[in-house]
Order: sequence, then C-alpha cells, then structure tokens
Amino acid sequence: MTIRCYHCNGLLDENDMVIKPIPLICKNGKVRNYKRKFHMKCLQEYMKNSSNREVRKSENDDWSKVYEYYKSEIMRYPETSNLSTYEVRRLNGLRVGSYMPNGNTRIVKKGYSYKTILLTMQFSKAAIVKYIDTHKFHDGEHKINYVMSVLGKNLDFIAEKMRLAQEIGEMTQSNRKLAEYYKNNFDEYIKDSSVAGAFRMLIKEHGEDKLLEAFGLVVRDGRAMDYIKSIEGTHRLNYIRKLLAEDKLPELKRKADSHKKQLRAVNDMENEITVSTTKYKRKGGKRHLNWLD
Ligand SMILES: [Zn+2]
Repeated sequence: MTIRCYHCNGLLDENDMVIKPIPLICKNGKVRNYKRKFHMKCLQEYMKNSSNREVRKSENDDWSKVYEYYKSEIMRYPETSNLSTYEVRRLNGLRVGSYMPNGNTRIVKKGYSYKTILLTMQFSKAAIVKYIDTHKFHDGEHKINYVMSVLGKNLDFIAEKMRLAQEIGEMTQSNRKLAEYYKNNFDEYIKDSSVAGAFRMLIKEHGEDKLLEAFGLVVRDGRAMDYIKSIEGTHRLNYIRKLLAEDKLPELKRKADSHKKQLRAVNDMENEITVSTTKYKRKGGKRHLNWLD
C-alpha cells in the first residue's frame, strides 16, 4: 500500500516518516486527534505554518473570497443565502485535490491554494455562466458537478501561469540589470512564457555578466542590431545564444573596436585638416603680408 504525506501528498517511505496526531473539530463540535503521516520536513513546515497566525488568517481570507465569488459571480445566489455543505466540501476538494474531503483543508501544501482557485474561477466564469444559463440540468447537484469539473480542469493551467509569473518576478528581481538592459534596448519585456524560459536558460548557462556583455556588443553592432530587431521574442535570445555558442563575441568586439578606431581616425583626420587649414591660413596670411611688403 502506498502511503502519502498529509502535507505535500508525496510518497512516504518508512525511513522518512513521522506520525503526528492532528486535532480536528468534529461535526458535533468535539475535538478529536487524527494520526497523520508526514515527511520529517513536511511536519516541521506544517507545524510552523499552522501556528503562524498570519498564514492562517491569509488562508481564511482567501477562502472567504472563494466562497463569495462562487456564490455571487458563478452561481449568482441571493446575497442572503449560504452555500450548501455539498458545495463547501466540493470547493474544499479543489483545495486539497480530492473529491469531497472530510477533514482539514487548510495549511497543507498539497493541492491548490485558494488564491489559485479564485483566479481559476475568474478565468472560467464567462464560459461557465454561458453554459449553465443555456443548459438544463437534471438537478442542482448536476449543475454544481459541472461547475466543479470545469474548475478542476482549469486549475493546472492557472497554477502554471501563477508559478511562471512568480518565477519571472523573481528572475527580473535578481537579474534586474539584465532585464532592464534588455527592455531598454530590445524594446520587449519578458512577459511571454517562452521568452522567460529562454531567458532563464541563458542566465543559467552564461551568467549575467557575460550576457550583459553580449547584449552590449549586439547593441553596438549596427548589422546585428538590425537583425535582432527584425526577429522576435525567443528568436532574439536564440540569436544571442548562438553568438555565445559559436564564440562570436570576440569577433563582435574586434568589429566594435575597429569601428571605434575608424571613428578615432576620422576624428584625427578632421582635426588635422582643421589644424592644417589654420596653419595654412596663418602661413598664407603671413606670406600674403610678406608679399605685400
Ligand atoms: Zn511531504
């Protein structure tokens, strides 16, 4: 028989398993302890979070939002009504990733956060409302089951979007210089998931300093810049990756340096011309004067 962790729902093996009685309030109001099995680390995390008042409060607040949104925006029940026990249990089922959980659904890491469920409801609202308004259901429970099945199907998609948004946030936080440089010069923000993925991989492979150098050289090279402007998103990053893989940076650097040298040469020439004309003028002026003399 496979045993799963109460907190993370991961598989447990006996060497890394602790059993802890968790108090739960029963239907009759009495408190009973249930023996739950945890990973060692998961028990610590669970105990820490369940004794943290802020964690508990924020989860309760999120649950209230889920409850309200479902009631008023999805099912559009009268304001004074309460959700049935069936609905509450099904909504909590989404939280812990089971059909109709009996006991606690808070604090645990498994399943989906109430925030994710709320976003999923907002995302699915239009489609759900349209369907339930135009279809006849056998009874109320069938209607609820339909809503839950749509939400259940969309949860992963939204959870993935949230995970990505967080990751992009963290990534641009820790590589702010690079993200800013990219945004300013290539005129594109890392909002697309594939661009973010490519970006992340590049940072992992080459580090921020090397990438900043590569971006800088591309910006200084007219032809490379024209090319990069003509392509989009991941292609831009792939181009940078190719430059790095083919070790093209020294070449770009030489080009940039020789361009600088040429500029300097032109500058020098211009200087010389001005110097010599002033010389000539001075000389000629003198000669002219001499000639007059
Ligand atoms: Zn665990």
